[in-house]
Amino acid sequence: MPWKGEKEPYKIWLSEVILQQTRVEQGWAYYEKFLQAFPTIHDLAGAPEQKVFKLWEGLGYYNRCRHLIATAKKISAEYKGVFPSTYESIRELKGIGPYTAAAIASFAFGLPHAVVDGNVLRVLARYFGLPTPIDTTTGKKLYTELADSLLDKRHPGIYNQAIMDFGATVCKPQNPLCDNCPLQKDCGAYQQDKVGILPVKEKSIRKRTRWLYYFFLETRDNKVYIRQRTGKDIWEDLYEFVLWEAEGPLDLPAEITKKGFARELFGKEPLTVRHISKLYRQQLSHQTIHGQFITVSLGKPLPELKGYLLVDRRKLDEYAFPKFINAWFLDPTPVQSLF
Ligand code: SF4
Repeated sequence: MPWKGEKEPYKIWLSEVILQQTRVEQGWAYYEKFLQAFPTIHDLAGAPEQKVFKLWEGLGYYNRCRHLIATAKKISAEYKGVFPSTYESIRELKGIGPYTAAAIASFAFGLPHAVVDGNVLRVLARYFGLPTPIDTTTGKKLYTELADSLLDKRHPGIYNQAIMDFGATVCKPQNPLCDNCPLQKDCGAYQQDKVGILPVKEKSIRKRTRWLYYFFLETRDNKVYIRQRTGKDIWEDLYEFVLWEAEGPLDLPAEITKKGFARELFGKEPLTVRHISKLYRQQLSHQTIHGQFITVSLGKPLPELKGYLLVDRRKLDEYAFPKFINAWFLDPTPVQSLF
């Protein structure tokens, strides 16, 4: 990994923020793109937000990007672009939780703070054979105290890196390499035959399924309706086409022949539906998104369509869209041509 052994706090922070909820293989390219576009915190802080969001496009969890911008601005303005060097001051920055603060404090500044990420929790729960769930308040306290007590205070950076790497490569979530593990003899989970059930998690995540139908409404002069998503929902601040969210799956050709089709969106204007896309699906951590894209030609702009911008189709790549919509851009083959 390009950031391994890194001592510069800006780079460690950037890599940690990118890697939260992102696989290393995917995050790597983004890390390099960001460093190239914004070599310093001042560069990131001074960049137009739309440019930063555009570069973040595809990584998901856009709150991370918002926090990245806010923290860069704060460090640029209040710390003259120099990353703060105490654990407490790092922890006060937006989007930096105990894990990222400990990583920056130990890797960049050699401060004695133990990192406690998913890898570390798994190693500790298994090695000590602990049944306490890792996602409860009691569990978080117990594992954090245990991690702190084990930390090599003279070499916190090396120790933290080692235990995280051990969890990622040997004591893996699935198929851990117990047969070749140097800790096998003293490992509680191995000795008690509990490797498969540790660590324990209490909360099972409730998943929600959503059905999003997007209208790609194109005017005669090649303009398209888009809007920026707001509110506390998925894809906040990203752009989308005209959305019709349904309670469940729709039979689109049948819906389209109905008289009152999408009247709440378009009023009485007649629509010429040209294409209906195949069904797209995206799995988010708490939601499964299904949906289709309906390409529509408009004779004239729709006065009823409030809150949407009419933009030149050729300029759509200046706006950041969710991965779900980009998947359609990349593969827009219609399953149904209606015109
Ligand atoms: S023996 Fe298996 S479960 Fe125990 S620490 Fe090693 S890899 Fe992890």
